[in-house]
Amino acid sequence: MRVAGSVVRQVLDHVRDHVKPGATTMDLDQAAEAKLKELGAKAAFKGYHGFPAVLCTSINQEVVHGIPSKKRVLKEGDIVSIDCGSIVDGYYGDSAITVAVGSIDERTQRLLDATKASLEAGIRAVKPGATLGDVGAAVQEVVEAEGFSVVRDFVGHGIGTHMHEDPQIPNYGIRGKGLKLKEGMVLAIEPMVNAGKHQVQVLKDGWTAVTSDGSMSAHFEHTVAVTADGAKVLTA
Ligand code: MG
Ligand code: MG
Repeated sequence: MRVAGSVVRQVLDHVRDHVKPGATTMDLDQAAEAKLKELGAKAAFKGYHGFPAVLCTSINQEVVHGIPSKKRVLKEGDIVSIDCGSIVDGYYGDSAITVAVGSIDERTQRLLDATKASLEAGIRAVKPGATLGDVGAAVQEVVEAEGFSVVRDFVGHGIGTHMHEDPQIPNYGIRGKGLKLKEGMVLAIEPMVNAGKHQVQVLKDGWTAVTSDGSMSAHFEHTVAVTADGAKVLTA
């Protein structure tokens, strides 16, 4: 899983360099596909329940599961969330970043910073004996302190020889509640944070989730192992 995680990191670092005004989300997908091939890894998303691409690319008010397209051109001031999954020898890695296209406004930058900080807070809460409520509460507190909201309809997940395994990992919760973490578990923690209200809806394409109020949304994700010493981030 460390190898699968390292692959995802390298792909996302590579794709990030292709984010600029004028690039299409299909350009990003093609860059990811080439990098996965170079690294000898398989794409986890392509074909998953019929998903047609290597990446999910979600622009501005799109929350998650946006489909890369030649028609979607990035422009200055946009943000794009890029989610990538890999398979190496049957094991999965999963990570996401949200990237600014050129310069973005101050509030949107704050949304990105808060979402990233909330993921880091969630990861810091991971250790044997901690609960999923501890992780969710840690994420939620950082997000809400900035006046943003945590998406409820999509959550993180266990990960291993399948992309989505039990348990579900909500980005909200109550300390001390929920499943206790044990050494050896691996979790994909992935806060999706809206600048406005938490409600989302899925577009007619059956995939793309957008904020109901049209506000901007950000997404950061890491695959994290529970070890005796605490969290080990496999996609760092
Ligand atoms: Mg993901
Ligand atoms: Mg995930």
